[in-house]
Amino acid sequence: YLDIRSVSKHFGELAAVKDVSLQVRKGEVVSIIGPSGSGKSTLLRCINQLELIDGGEIAIEGERIIAVEDGDRVKLPEKQVRGGLKKLGMVFQHFNLFPHKSVIENLIEAPMVVDRLRRSEIEPYARELLSKVGLADKADAYPNRLSGGQKQRVAIARALAMKPDILLCDEPTSALDPELVGEVLAVLKQLAGEHMTMLVVTHEMSFARDVCDRVVFMDQGGIIEDASPEKLFSDPDHPRIKLFLRKML
Ligand code: ATP
Ligand code: MG
Repeated sequence: YLDIRSVSKHFGELAAVKDVSLQVRKGEVVSIIGPSGSGKSTLLRCINQLELIDGGEIAIEGERIIAVEDGDRVKLPEKQVRGGLKKLGMVFQHFNLFPHKSVIENLIEAPMVVDRLRRSEIEPYARELLSKVGLADKADAYPNRLSGGQKQRVAIARALAMKPDILLCDEPTSALDPELVGEVLAVLKQLAGEHMTMLVVTHEMSFARDVCDRVVFMDQGGIIEDASPEKLFSDPDHPRIKLFLRKML
């Protein structure tokens, strides 16, 4: 479904992502955990091409959206790349809402611009999504009037408004006050229950353990273990993971 093969990304001399391979199947919820600087965000950014990879390839539903062979970008059909990228939704740590647009406008913007839909065609669905994240009454509010937890729930609804097949989330709760983390995790948990395919970078070990089908541990740009939560949290193969978990829990 999402197929990452031998992907690398360097910043100058630094290999931020090194030969990473990872598959996420339809309906699977996979979390990525690991120390700061291990390449988690860079990997997500490579998937949606906010960063261009310098090795390997990434395919969505069997169609490559980027590929590098012998150091050269493979020329792929524009339609295939755009089609693949459209299947991805992204939720950022710092929400990235449009500050000068109301909540409902935030949801409607991309479907109107990208899919050229009329407001009347999307607004009912946008309102449905706001209800789903518990913010039906905030449709006309501006982001600066919302709590962090509310902003992030709007950001999730906005990503869903494009009907993505895969939702990528980069530490969706780490900018939030502790008492607001739960409401955002509850929304992600609900999506997981609806079999949304998700790849979530998180420091919330309980979310990784209780909600995810698989947990991937990254260290120094590479994946050092990819296992079920039961295995990874109780009996990881790598001593480094044990050390990390001891610090986190
Ligand atoms: P954190 O848990 O702190 O968010 P992370 O696992 O997401 O960390 P990345 O942000 O992916 O880590 O960074 C991986 C490495 O790449 C780090 O050493 C970082 O300094 C470096 N890096 C990331 N983005 C850039 C960039 N645009 N230019 C140069 N170096 C970068
Ligand atoms: Mg990061």
